[in-house]
Amino acid sequence: MKVLQETTKWKQGTQPNHVYLVDGDKMLAYQPWGTGTVVHFDRALRFDQARRKFSELVFDHTVWGDCAQQQHVVHVAGSNGAVYTVDTVSATCTCTGFRYRGSCKHLAIAAQESNTTI
Ligand SMILES: [Zn+2]
Repeated sequence: MKVLQETTKWKQGTQPNHVYLVDGDKMLAYQPWGTGTVVHFDRALRFDQARRKFSELVFDHTVWGDCAQQQHVVHVAGSNGAVYTVDTVSATCTCTGFRYRGSCKHLAIAAQESNTTI
């Protein structure tokens, strides 16, 4: 995961350059230029870096930590209609099957889903 500040010089000269939280070719969140606010996307968006310039900033947990964490949490619908919350980093699920056996099918579904391209 990287924090990228856009440094492209736009022809208009007035285009503000935002800061992006990027994972591979996906954008997880961004910070509009000149603000301390982070806009988080529920689903990562494709991030096109063609013909643009960026400089990498230090990953600041106080700014981006929540967004980075949320990307690891996936909601999976169970066969009985309930929705379970799976954390793909700690590999845990909120279903009863996981509580008793320490594993369940939702983990596999969530792992697959979190790699899905949009
Ligand atoms: Zn489960």
